[in-house]
Amino acid sequence: MPIINRIADFHDDMTAWRHDLHAHPELGFEEHRTSAVAADRRREFGVDEVVTGIARTGVVVVIRGRLPGDAIGLRADMDALPIHEETGLPYASTIPGKMHACGHDGHTTMLLGAARYLAETRNFAGTVYVIFQPAEEGMAGGKVMVDEGLFARFPMRMVFGMHNWPLMPAGVFAWRHGPIMAACSSFEITVTGRGAHAAQPHTGIDPILVAAHIVTGLQSVVARGIEPVEAGVVTVGAINGGHAHNVIPETVSLKGTTRWFTPAVGDALEAGVRRVATKTAEAFGAHAEVNYQRTYIVTDNDAAATDLAVAAARAVSGEARVVPMVKPTMGGEDFSFMLAAKQGSYIMLGGGRGEGDAMVHHPKYDFNDAILPVGASYWATLAEQLLPAG
Ligand SMILES: [Zn+2]
Ligand SMILES: [Zn+2]
Repeated sequence: MPIINRIADFHDDMTAWRHDLHAHPELGFEEHRTSAVAADRRREFGVDEVVTGIARTGVVVVIRGRLPGDAIGLRADMDALPIHEETGLPYASTIPGKMHACGHDGHTTMLLGAARYLAETRNFAGTVYVIFQPAEEGMAGGKVMVDEGLFARFPMRMVFGMHNWPLMPAGVFAWRHGPIMAACSSFEITVTGRGAHAAQPHTGIDPILVAAHIVTGLQSVVARGIEPVEAGVVTVGAINGGHAHNVIPETVSLKGTTRWFTPAVGDALEAGVRRVATKTAEAFGAHAEVNYQRTYIVTDNDAAATDLAVAAARAVSGEARVVPMVKPTMGGEDFSFMLAAKQGSYIMLGGGRGEGDAMVHHPKYDFNDAILPVGASYWATLAEQLLPAG
């Protein structure tokens, strides 16, 4: 695949940067080291300006082309996950309980590689804003950057994002017009009953039994409440309550998420979760408190911006390796807030090595270094194609 030669030259450097970031993962809004590395590297490259402190640990790097012109933004996320790494790799996480399990170390590195190339060559007309965003994993760092004036401080025509995808072969790009990722909520249901001796259930109200019925009932919210051709998800991901085999506890907590694309489904899911939780608890004489937060909005790609992204991807990977994504994913992404404020597109880059690859968010997942120059070349090509120097 025609990777930019100069970028291929520093594949080893990029791999070393990626391994360094991988060994030192930081969670959302704590990316002080990562953000300092990103800022320092860029200063080394001789970029025009490095602006830190946007959304706490966010960084925007300004690179001006050899001619004046328009501006675009290229965005990567920097945060890790609260997962204990099990890869056994020589550069595995040095911090117990924290891991780059979504490949944001790779995202940061690919954009660093592109920045190095763009600062060296300046073969474009206008300005490239290279955006390092904190806290993608559930804390909406993308929204905070927009709220803190990202697009007002750095006026740009379009903004672009990218995610690695282990389920697609390495170097294949997948694009989509319109929705590519879902809107999300997170919810917590606290069921309060009445604690009792396990041998005297009639003297208490068993919140574990109530919680079990709620979990089962929640599965009807999509199955019986959402039109079958629409997409919706309700998942309970955590259930906690009780400590002993012979004690009925007082409370049980359930945590979960919902996913949707259309406002009507989003409303039906929220109403359904609230109704099933509170009314089921009531039916058993217990009480359920529901804390339901809508977190991310739909990641909705602009068609014209997507076509520009596709052209850049084809220049790097070739026509046959740039494919339409037939179905969106129910995953969530806070680049959605940038796309709600600015024309742009989000693309997937395959990182699959073959059979048995671990998916992102898995303790055995590792970003595929083979695609570092592919992603960096995509970013650089996108900048040169959108801001042609003549
Ligand atoms: Zn993730
Ligand atoms: Zn991610």
